[in-house]
Amino acid sequence: MPRSTTPVWHCDDNACPICTAPERDERAPLRCAILTLLEHGRWMACDEIPLPDILSAGGDYLSRLRDTVGDGTPVPAVEHWAWLDAELRLAVARAAGLDAVSTLDPRIDKVLTTAARRTPRRQVDLLDLAAEQFAELCAQSRTA
Ligand SMILES: [Zn+2]
Repeated sequence: MPRSTTPVWHCDDNACPICTAPERDERAPLRCAILTLLEHGRWMACDEIPLPDILSAGGDYLSRLRDTVGDGTPVPAVEHWAWLDAELRLAVARAAGLDAVSTLDPRIDKVLTTAARRTPRRQVDLLDLAAEQFAELCAQSRTA
């Protein structure tokens, strides 16, 4: 887990399960960034953007998104971008059924390659599920 820099944004999603939690810790901006990417990923999959493209360069995507839509977009510091991509891939691999607990699990690549061959419709379902599971996981880790 990388150390977090000072958050420089305010999540503008009033229903964001991460940012509306009673206790927000320093990792909240990073988790919110992952959830934001998963949610945007479903729209990208609808546009038939390949899964590997959706799951890479998330930090760059978020910073461009903030330029377009403004301050409500979480943009982690550049040094966290690689971590962000790895966590995103882990979240989607888990949604695809992999029991991975670490971003270093060597099976993630294979699972994502298989997932990328699914139809766009099924990729949307996969990203939806990943977002749902990720939000749930964050809720559990807060109460644990
Ligand atoms: Zn948020």
